[in-house]
This record gives sequence, C-alpha cells and structure tokens, in this order.
Amino acid sequence: MTYSMVELIRTKRDNGELSADELAWIIREYTADALPDYQLSALLMAFVLNGMSPAELAAWTEAMLHSGDVLDLAAVDKPKIDKHSTGGVGDKISIPLVPVVAACGVAVPMMSGRGLGHTGGTLDKLESIPGFSVDIAPGAFVEQLNDVGMVMVGASETLVPADRRIYSLRDATGTVPSIPLISSSIMAKKLAEDLDGLLLDVKFGSGATMKNIQDAKKLANTMVGTGHTYGTPVTAMLTNMDQPLGAAVGNANEIQESIAILKGDGPDDVRELTLLFASEMLMMAGEADIEVARSLAEAAITSGRALEVMARVTELQGGDPACIEDPSLLEIAPMEHVIKADRSGWVTACDAYAIGTAAVRLGAGRATKEDTIDPGVGFLIQAKIGDPVVEGQPLAVVSYRDSRKLDSALVAAAGAWSIADVEPPIPDLVLGTVR
Ligand code: URA
Repeated sequence: MTYSMVELIRTKRDNGELSADELAWIIREYTADALPDYQLSALLMAFVLNGMSPAELAAWTEAMLHSGDVLDLAAVDKPKIDKHSTGGVGDKISIPLVPVVAACGVAVPMMSGRGLGHTGGTLDKLESIPGFSVDIAPGAFVEQLNDVGMVMVGASETLVPADRRIYSLRDATGTVPSIPLISSSIMAKKLAEDLDGLLLDVKFGSGATMKNIQDAKKLANTMVGTGHTYGTPVTAMLTNMDQPLGAAVGNANEIQESIAILKGDGPDDVRELTLLFASEMLMMAGEADIEVARSLAEAAITSGRALEVMARVTELQGGDPACIEDPSLLEIAPMEHVIKADRSGWVTACDAYAIGTAAVRLGAGRATKEDTIDPGVGFLIQAKIGDPVVEGQPLAVVSYRDSRKLDSALVAAAGAWSIADVEPPIPDLVLGTVR
C-alpha cells in the first residue's frame, strides 16, 4: 500500500487521525530516504501543534522501534539496565553514571542522543574525546557488555535508523517540544536495547523541553506506560532544570567535569544526581537496600574502578584513554570572555535556557542538520542560585573561537543571571518519581 504524503500532512494539520498503516508507511519511506525532509518536517510540526492520539503514539513508536534491528542480549550474563534523560543544559550525568553502574556489575547498553535544540547531547560530548566512536557494530555489543559492562552508542543505520534521521530533522526544524515525539524517540531506542529495566530522568524548568512539572509528569507517565506495554519496567525521576547542572556547559569541558566526578571531585549537584541514579539503577538490577546501593556506587568511585571502566571503554570505542587519565589533554577553545556581576547580592536565577542557547550559538550545538559541533567552546559557570556575589565578580568564563559567535552568544546569555538583595531558597534537584 502506498499513500500520498501531502494528504497525510493535511489530515494531521486539520486535527484528523492517521492509521497505524499510514504511520508505519511514513517511517518506512523516510528511513529509506524516499520522502523529502520538507514533507516530514511539515508533519512533525503538525504533531507538535496537534499532538498524537494514544493509538497514533503506539503505532509511531512501534514503527520507529522496528525501523531497524532489535538487539538480542540474551548472551549478556548481567542485568541490563539503562538510563536516559529528556535533555538538559550541562546535563552530562550519563557520562560519569554509566561507568559507576558498570563497575558495580550491571550491563548498560546505552543508546544516547546528540544535542537537541538548546540542550546538549551525550554523543556530541563523547566525540570530543579524540577518536571516540559512537557507532559500533551490533555484534560487538555483547562482547563489550560482558567485558566492561557498558557501551555508549547512537541510533545507527541498523539500530533505530528512523530516530537517527528524525532526531536531527527535529533539531533543525523547531519540532523538539512534543510529548509524543520525545516519548517515541526515547522509548524506541530503549526498547531496542533488550533491557531488564530503564531509569528516565525527566527534566522540567527553563532549560528543559518540558517547562513545568505538570508537563514533565505527563511525559513521564507516557513513557512509563509505553514501557509497561512492552513489559519493560521503567522508573522516571522528575528533576529540576531551571539552572545548568554543574559548572560546564559545552562538550569537551563537560567530559572534563565528568572525569572529575569519576575521580571523586566535581560539582555537588552532578555528584548527587550521579549517585542517586546509580543507586536507583542498582535497585532495578536486584539490589534490595537503597543505602547499600548508594555505598556500592560510592565505592566504585573511591576505589577508582569506575574511572578504569571509562578508560577501558574509551579505548574499546577507539578513543584516546590518555584523555581520561588527564582530561586537560582535551582541547578547549583558546579565547576567553568573562561575564561579570553588574551588582552585589545573591544569585536568584542562572537561566539554563539562556545559557544553553548561548552555548549553541558559540558552536557547541547545531543550527542546521549539516553543522559540525565545535567541541572546545562553552561556558564554565562560576555563580549559581544561592551564591553571594560582589559587583565585578565573574559569573561565567566563556571559551570561544569566533568573536562574531561570541557576540551572538552574549546576546542570548544577557539577563541569564538575576541578582537580588535577599538570599533565595535553593531549588530541590528531584521533585518526584513515577513508576
Ligand atoms: N532524547 C531523545 O532521545 N529524544 C528526544 O526527543 C529527547 C531527548
């Protein structure tokens, strides 16, 4: 059966419903490069504006999942648990988290994403390690999982190829913020991994795609429900993304911060989420006591085992393990601009959306599908919510390579920080769990 794409776009534009056959046809044709980007973009925008019915979402997710192979990890002799974030600014948590969990005897077959809109992507960050490949053959999965307990890859020509294509199109067409598109993108990748359990970090706030906790809950419920349909246990934690996580926002600098966590240093919020998520994943893998799970995760860091796992994975995936040993080897852009406090007081806002957008404008993210990332540019934030500052004190150091891009980034970042006379409450990092 073949369909007219323009008729399907009109149906969705006018709030009609597409059938499972029609949706599967669209995914098949687009994956085979038989539909132009402009037509799929128009349909995606109709999904953003008009949503999808539950039946449409189920059919779209199923078609995405089966656009390529589904992994068979029966030969992996450990529990297989993964984590995925809906996307944030400075959200490098997966990078220290996965080696910690792998060092505790769990297999993490992680299929991640690239930067999306103003949010950064795990794959782009990993690729700032010279040589690191996020595209390994499915045949190597089992071997690497049994050997070191983790792989970190992207959707590929064989694994969820529909997401590989649609993801980059959404990034360049303003079609990211849609509960069904986010849910299908994430769940198709995760269901293709043959998991025993999945932890979702569903972010809300200015730097997230879900701007408020109500929408984040809806997204969490949608993904947990999809997991139930397929018999995969899913837990979603709702976490705050009003300000960036940690100090680093970019790519290479976020790898440096992740390595600091694995060495027992690094910012408190990044360490806290890493340990919290690691404990939850160990519970999903069968650990009965959350306190024990947390101490196992802490021990994986203090013993150096998690760092060793990261170095080994880097080597296995073609990267330079010397950069894990000594992250100062990662290249950071040579020019610096300091953003300074224009008055004294307490920082009451450090707006993640403004800083994420500014980082993209510097070159840390993409404006078009064809853009390449500059791994060395980004922000190192020096003052966050609740910090006292005096006039002239640095709020952030910007590493840049192109002064026109810096100018544009500074326009986006203008007003990111608010400073007032009264000390504000520190926002809670985690605001709920959906199971
Ligand atoms: N992560 C994904 O993989 N897809 C999305 O749509 C958002 C975050």
